[in-house]
Amino acid sequence: MTTIDVSSPAVLAAKQDVADATRILAREKLIGPFGHPSVRIQGTNLVAILGDTHFAVKLLTEVGPEDVAIIDMDGVPLNPSICGPGERFIHTEIYQARPDVNAVVHAHPAYCIAFSVSDRPLQPLWHLCTEVSQGVPVHMKSIQIDTPELAADLAATLGNRPFVLLHGHGSVAVGESMATACVRQISLERAAKLQSTVDAMGGSVPIAADEIKPDDGLSVGLTQEEINAQWDYWRLEISRH
Ligand SMILES: [Zn+2]
Repeated sequence: MTTIDVSSPAVLAAKQDVADATRILAREKLIGPFGHPSVRIQGTNLVAILGDTHFAVKLLTEVGPEDVAIIDMDGVPLNPSICGPGERFIHTEIYQARPDVNAVVHAHPAYCIAFSVSDRPLQPLWHLCTEVSQGVPVHMKSIQIDTPELAADLAATLGNRPFVLLHGHGSVAVGESMATACVRQISLERAAKLQSTVDAMGGSVPIAADEIKPDDGLSVGLTQEEINAQWDYWRLEISRH
């Protein structure tokens, strides 16, 4: 049995990050009855993830750190009274496959799902989401990812990319921080919505390759400062509502 001081700064920070991301993503209508963010608890082999006990008593826009579960890399909760979601293995398998990833968001956004079943690839049409120019893989399984084996297959499809679409199901965005994963998930859905609008208008002129900044190790087209600016603004928004 893994033990951890649940009042340590690392645990409290991780729970706050997951609660903030949950409220931000719910406000964007990217998660609701389903979908969940998580972070790796620094200095441990544990994951803080939106727990499964909030449904009966709270909206996702109301959750706090008390609604966040801590699970190990086998998906087992440290406190049996608050467990991770059924698709928790998406998170644990990605963390094991990607040491560079410290945050994961799984959502079921409508426009991402539309592109997951379309033969149209996402294109760089918006300067805040040019990472799609690297290609967004589609995981061609539409079932619930509720076993380590299914999740390991998904992690393989993700590879070293920032996001993956799940065919007829949703999307996963990852990052070295909760801010990055959250910005990526929201930006991906906004980019997919934008492209569906432009495609309906009859076609598009994507941003030229030489206008897309080279990968700075954080995000093509976005600096850490630009990621933090969005994350900080969205946290201010949820603090006022
Ligand atoms: Zn799902």
